[in-house]
Amino acid sequence: MDSALDERVINHVTMTKKQVALTFDDGPDDKYTLKILDILKANGIKATFFVVGEHAAKYPAVLRRIVQEGHVVGNHSWDHPDLLKLSNELIRNEITKTDDVIRNISGASPTLFRAPYGAVNNDVRIDAASTGHHLIGWSVDTLDWKGKSTAEIINAVKKEVTPGAIILQHSAGGKGGNLTNTIQALPQIISYLKQNNYSFVTVPELLSAETH
Ligand SMILES: [Zn+2]
Repeated sequence: MDSALDERVINHVTMTKKQVALTFDDGPDDKYTLKILDILKANGIKATFFVVGEHAAKYPAVLRRIVQEGHVVGNHSWDHPDLLKLSNELIRNEITKTDDVIRNISGASPTLFRAPYGAVNNDVRIDAASTGHHLIGWSVDTLDWKGKSTAEIINAVKKEVTPGAIILQHSAGGKGGNLTNTIQALPQIISYLKQNNYSFVTVPELLSAETH
């Protein structure tokens, strides 16, 4: 990756190739994450999962499956707080504790950090970079966690996708703990993007393909 750890938030990557990165936040769990993994596997797609440390600790087998199936694991904090309300020391703790549990369970060392709610200030930028992470946002927000319908989720992608897009969905949580619409939308999102000649890469692959 030649994108330096320069404390910027990367919401999308400037490129002409039609590549996108699917990202799934807030897992792992033992329900929706498994269904997403099945759909990705059936389509031969590698994605990026931004996992919450305490969920990784609770579902270690699912975290290992994510890594074994070739997906990238990013750090999404230990317990999903609003980092803007935390001291610098506590922010660093959220990041390093999560790196440690991911490494201990799966052997993967996260090089990506996504702040809960996308809430970022100077401390978050500095702490993410100084602990060795690119700070990742998104350019397509499906708002799937809000209980959007399957059609609304698909339409958000159709409307907002561009070459180099980072698409945000969730693999756990959701309104009332329900992500059924995410699961129903995913195969249709994949087939729409394939029909429009997009290919699927992980976030690190997208970063390394950035045109300067
Ligand atoms: Zn989240």
